[in-house]
Amino acid sequence: MVIGLIKESGKERRVAMLPEVVAALVKLNVPVMVEKGAGERSFVSDEEYVAAGATIHAKKEVVEGSGMIVKINPPSDEETGWMKPEQNLLCVLNPLVDHALVKRIVAAGITAFSLDIIPRTSRAQAMDILSSMATVNGYKAVLTAANTLPKFFPMFMTAAGTISPAKVLILGAGVAGLQALATSRKLGGVVEVFDVRAAVKEEVTGLGGKFIDVEGATDEKSAGGYAVEQTEEFKNRQAQAIHDHALKSDVIICTAQIPGKKAPLLLKKETVLAMKPGSVIIDLAASSGGNCELTKDLETYEINGITIIGNSFFAIDMPYDASKMFGKNVLNFLKLMVSPEGFRINWDDDIIKGTCVAHKGEIISERVKALIQL
Ligand code: NAD
Repeated sequence: MVIGLIKESGKERRVAMLPEVVAALVKLNVPVMVEKGAGERSFVSDEEYVAAGATIHAKKEVVEGSGMIVKINPPSDEETGWMKPEQNLLCVLNPLVDHALVKRIVAAGITAFSLDIIPRTSRAQAMDILSSMATVNGYKAVLTAANTLPKFFPMFMTAAGTISPAKVLILGAGVAGLQALATSRKLGGVVEVFDVRAAVKEEVTGLGGKFIDVEGATDEKSAGGYAVEQTEEFKNRQAQAIHDHALKSDVIICTAQIPGKKAPLLLKKETVLAMKPGSVIIDLAASSGGNCELTKDLETYEINGITIIGNSFFAIDMPYDASKMFGKNVLNFLKLMVSPEGFRINWDDDIIKGTCVAHKGEIISERVKALIQL
């Protein structure tokens, strides 16, 4: 089984596998074809891929010559058109939201795996690209906020007087939120955190943040560690608590999401307009509607002296390490199927089954199947 690495297009600067992943695959007797220039926007040359054991080709040759095509973003119509039903595809299809794409992939007859729906089990942790990219997002969000804020993050006692530390409010304490908390603390900020899952309280305090309790959250144990939608009564109570804490904050980092659904609206327009001028809001949930009512996806603008940055894709701005983490996740997933003995899809493996969107014209993932009628 030949694995083919495709170059990304558009604004994307990451690549799905760095040469270190190619070397690991070659060691498993897996030949790897790489599209010319695949790594150049992550600062990796074709020569480095060749040194790792890959061969370099034009895009069409890679697509037609590999049994498993690996990339980050969904394939273009042209790329899908070159694929044959016996081929496999590994990328990020956002299948819980992009139903038209799922139908197109199913119609192509290929076997497609989407790493963003990998089951969130302990065994799958090393393959979880959502966690990897959330780590980059949480870190970069705080650095961007620090860069935009007209104040220091840490407290300073100087001959020119004492500077108070920046106050940071984080909405959502998942992987991105906890990384934002850790990064803010390293920079010396004072951090408060909201989440509807009580389970994260200990992690928040362990990282030096203050957890803000709002009574009455619906915390669904059966949701696989994810949050669920909240009651109207809770939402009102939470909005008031967020309003009160937002007015004291210099920076708000929004990270709250509900998989496959619109992001919860947590920061209302009137709250934002009442915040201190100079404050910064970074909305990492922008691509799924945003936690802040005034967020504009992929835009930065100022209103009443408050800067609002809507960006869910900071990983694109840190392409080397983002690609390194993504590639390690890809390798760990591929190792479920490739070995020196060859390629085999074990359909009894819950990780493989849960990640597979399409196989032989059918939807395999139960989560996707429940949403889409073919
Ligand atoms: P996510 O991106 O889906 O959501 C981010 C955070 O927003 C979550 O903590 C969620 O509880 C919170 N949130 C949602 N609605 C909210 C609301 N109305 N108000 C306040 N907060 C709200 O989450 P994630 O970072 O992808 O991770 C979610 C969980 O999954 C975490 O417990 C994480 O540890 C777990 N996880 C497990 C694995 C694994 O075992 N393989 C991998 C990654 C994450």
